[in-house]
Amino acid sequence: MIHADRLLENFLTILRIDSYYPNEDPVADSLRPELDRLGVQLSVDEHRNVLGYWPGAGALQDREPILLCAHMDTVQPTPDMEPVIRDGTVHSDGSSVLGADDKAAVAAIMEGLSSVADSGAPHRPVEVLFTVGEDVGHIGSKAFDVTPVRSKMAFVPDADGPVGGIMLAAPWSQGKRVVFHGRAAHAGMEPENGRSAISMASRAIDQMQLGRIDEETTANVGIVTGGEAINIIPPEAELSFNIRSLEQSKYESVSAEILDRCQQAAEAFGGHMEVHQINRITGFRFAPDASIIQYAEDAMNAAGIKPWTAVTCGGSDANELNAKGLPTVVISVGYLDIHSNKESMPIDELNRLAEVCAALILVE
Ligand SMILES: [Zn+2]
Repeated sequence: MIHADRLLENFLTILRIDSYYPNEDPVADSLRPELDRLGVQLSVDEHRNVLGYWPGAGALQDREPILLCAHMDTVQPTPDMEPVIRDGTVHSDGSSVLGADDKAAVAAIMEGLSSVADSGAPHRPVEVLFTVGEDVGHIGSKAFDVTPVRSKMAFVPDADGPVGGIMLAAPWSQGKRVVFHGRAAHAGMEPENGRSAISMASRAIDQMQLGRIDEETTANVGIVTGGEAINIIPPEAELSFNIRSLEQSKYESVSAEILDRCQQAAEAFGGHMEVHQINRITGFRFAPDASIIQYAEDAMNAAGIKPWTAVTCGGSDANELNAKGLPTVVISVGYLDIHSNKESMPIDELNRLAEVCAALILVE
């Protein structure tokens, strides 16, 4: 059903735009003429997220709308990147990432709409949401107001793996920074008057369970700083940690346990601590027989693509939309080596993703 030449051309056009946050507007501008041609009603919020509503047609026009969402930004700037096609795959020229994350999804969603329109087939009403700043911390989707959204389910193509993948769950995740306060003293003349904040931090870390805690839970202390000079008892030290779990209760208990260890260590060395939140991402989990999962599987089967399910350990706009009460599933894009200069996108996967986007609109 899709027009592969048009899809590839549009994909390359978007890839050539350097749209690192907050410079996504030229991507939105490049989509506008086609969205206008299709009759998509567009609105742009104060955060520059683009929301469009495309009325349904024919026998499916009164069905529930669905929302398709992708982010327009890239993980790093791509000022001089010229995409290179080699062996049926679009590669970065090596100067930066390619940006298939998530421009392959932007292009595929657009082609899904265009090809359905061109076919004249009856289709559901569709909403499209193109967000900003996903890769620098879900900035657009976090700030997005879902009130005007009419859909009761959403799909975000933004996961690893061959097209056909449906992510049942994504983790709860948070980062915290703990600052230990001790007391400075001359290390040679009066060490007994000092309270070492570095001792507090190291005792705390030693008492923590880190790494892979169980199949679906991880914890990591990623940054440690502290101290002023080798002859001063260190009055301050910091550690920053990240916790992830696909199970909300484990995420909460592991987070609480790590803070307990910090508190005990601070007390043991006669100091105190303060805690700062770095970030927080709400996870989600759907049952394999949830209606949104069934819907995605039906669409993929209709497109002739074998669906498969998995869980993802990364965050995406889907975390934010779910947290706002809009059931949202992440599906795989087929991009390779994302967040590296070797990033690439096989053209047949791009075509398959567009077929899936079209099929999602056509589900009866
Ligand atoms: Zn992404």
